[in-house]
Amino acid sequence: MSANPPVLRPRPAPRPARRRAAPSRPAPHREPMPVVLTAVIVAGALPVAFVWWQNTIPGSLDSPAADLSAAGRIAGLLAAYLLLVLVALMARVPWLENRIGSDTVARLHRALGEYTVALAFAHAVLIVCGYAWQGHTDPLTETWAVVTGYTDVWLAAVSLGLLGLIGVVSARAIRRRVAYESWYHVHLLAYVAIALAFSHEFAVGTEFSASPRNRLLWSAAHVVVGAAVVVFRLGLPLYRSLRHGVRVAAVVAEGPGVVSVHLTGRDLDRLGARAGQFLRWRFLARGQWWQSHPYSLSAAPTPDALRITVKALGDASGAVARLRPGTRVWFEGPYGAFTARRRWGATARPARPVLLLAAGAGVTPLRALYETLPAAARGGPGHHDGRHDSGSGDGGVLLVQRASRPEDLVLHAELRRIAQARGFGLLAVVGPRGGPADDPLRADRLRAMVPALAERDVYLCGPAGWTAFVRAELRRAGVPARRIRTEAFAF
Ligand SMILES: Cc1cc2nc3c(=O)[nH]c(=O)nc-3n(C[C@H](O)[C@H](O)[C@H](O)COP(=O)(O)OP(=O)(O)OC[C@H]3O[C@@H](n4cnc5c(N)ncnc54)[C@H](O)[C@@H]3O)c2cc1C
Repeated sequence: MSANPPVLRPRPAPRPARRRAAPSRPAPHREPMPVVLTAVIVAGALPVAFVWWQNTIPGSLDSPAADLSAAGRIAGLLAAYLLLVLVALMARVPWLENRIGSDTVARLHRALGEYTVALAFAHAVLIVCGYAWQGHTDPLTETWAVVTGYTDVWLAAVSLGLLGLIGVVSARAIRRRVAYESWYHVHLLAYVAIALAFSHEFAVGTEFSASPRNRLLWSAAHVVVGAAVVVFRLGLPLYRSLRHGVRVAAVVAEGPGVVSVHLTGRDLDRLGARAGQFLRWRFLARGQWWQSHPYSLSAAPTPDALRITVKALGDASGAVARLRPGTRVWFEGPYGAFTARRRWGATARPARPVLLLAAGAGVTPLRALYETLPAAARGGPGHHDGRHDSGSGDGGVLLVQRASRPEDLVLHAELRRIAQARGFGLLAVVGPRGGPADDPLRADRLRAMVPALAERDVYLCGPAGWTAFVRAELRRAGVPARRIRTEAFAF
C-alpha cells in the first residue's frame, strides 16, 4: 500500500444522458432474528401451553364466556413465560452476548417485549370479560370486583400498569424522545412487575394452585433466571472490576470531540477480550460513577492495557475527555460477536477477502480488527476470482473510512500506519452525503472502488441511518446478507 492511502472526494454524479429513475431510498433494514434461539424460546412455550391444556377440563369450553376466560388464562401463562424469557435475554449471559451478539439479543428482546405486553393486557381483558359474561354483569363492575376482592389480583393489576408503562416508553416514537437513562430506569421496573404478578399466578391460576409439581417447576424457573441476573449483571462485573483493577492511564485528544482513553490493569488477557468487542464502562469519577456506557475496544487488547475511543455525543460521552489519570474504572464484559473468531472459528483467519466499512466513531471496533485480522486465506495478492483481481495490493483486507470532513477521519493516521505495516488496503471517502442517487457509497461506486466486492466478508459500523443505507447498497452490489456483519452503536 502506498505511504498515503488515497482519499476519495465524492464528485457530483454525472448528469444522466437519459432520464432514469433514481434508486429509491432503501426500506429500513431489518436484521434476521437468530433462528435457533427463537426456536428454543418457542419450544419453551409448548410445556406452558400443555399445562393450560391439562387444566382445561374437557367439555368446560361450552360457552363463549368460558372460551374467553380460557383464552385469557393461556394469554396470561404465555405473558408470564415471555416476561421470564425477556429477563433471561437481558441477564447478559456471556454465551448469548458473545455468540449471538448483544445487539441481536436486544432486538429479540424488543420484539418479544411487544408480544409480552400485548398478551398481558389480553389476559386481563379476556378474563374480566369472560367472568363478566358468566356473572351477567358488565366488565367495569367485574374489574372492580376482582381487583378489590383479591389482594394478589390487586398486585397483579399494578404489575400490568408497570408493564404498560414500559411498553409506552419503549414505543419507537417515544423512545426517541426519552433520555437513555430514563428509559433504562423505567425498564428496571420489569423486575418489580414480575415480583408483583408472581403471587396471583399461584393464588388464582388453576394451573398452579392445583399442582405442587407445577408450582415447583415454575418457582425453579424464576430462581434460575434470577440467579443468572445476579451472577452475570452484578457478581461477575464486580469480581472482574476488583480483580483487574482497571484505571485510566491517559486521555488523548484524537480530533474534534473525540478522545482515546488508555486504560491499565492486571492480567487483562484473562478477560479474553477480542478485537471488535465492547465493554460497558463505569468511570468512578464525580458525576459519572452512577451510569455505565458501552464503548468498543479501539486497539487490540494486551495483558496490561486496553484502549477505547469516544466521540462526545451527550453528557456522559462528553465527560470522558475530563477524566483524570488514576481514575478507577469498573466494567462489564467483554461482549459482542463482531469478531473475527465468531466469523471464522478458532483460527480467526478469514476464508475470503474482507471489507471493513466505517463511519464516525464506528471506526473503533474496525480499527482493532484491522490491526489483528490475519490476511485472508483466499484473496490478497495474486488471488483471482474470475472477474476481479483482489490482489490489488490490499492483502485481502480493505478498510474504507467515511467522513464528511478530513478532520473527522477518526484514528486515520493510525490506520495508515497499520496499512503500511501489514500491506492492507485503506481508502478514505471524504465529503458530504449525497442523496441515495449520488451518495459516494452507492452500489455502483462501491463496486468500482472495492475489488472483488461480492466475494468479500463485510464488517460495517457507523451511525444507524448510514449503516442501513450502506448495507442496502452492499446487497444491491451483490454481497449476500449472510456475509455482512454490522455492529449497532445503539440498543
Ligand atoms: C455496542 C456499542 C458500542 C459502542 N462503541 C462506541 C465507541 O467505541 N465509541 C463511541 O464514541 N461510542 C460508542 N458507542 C456509543 C456510545 O455508547 C454512546 O455514544 C454513549 O453511550 C452516549 O451517551 P451520552 O450520555 O453521552 O449521550 P446521550 O445523548 O445520552 O445518547 C446518545 C445516544 O447514545 C445512546 N446511549 C446513551 N447511553 C447509552 C447506553 N448506556 N447504552 C447504549 N446506548 C446508549 C442513546 O440512546 C442515544 O442514541 C457504542 C454503543 C454501543 C451500543
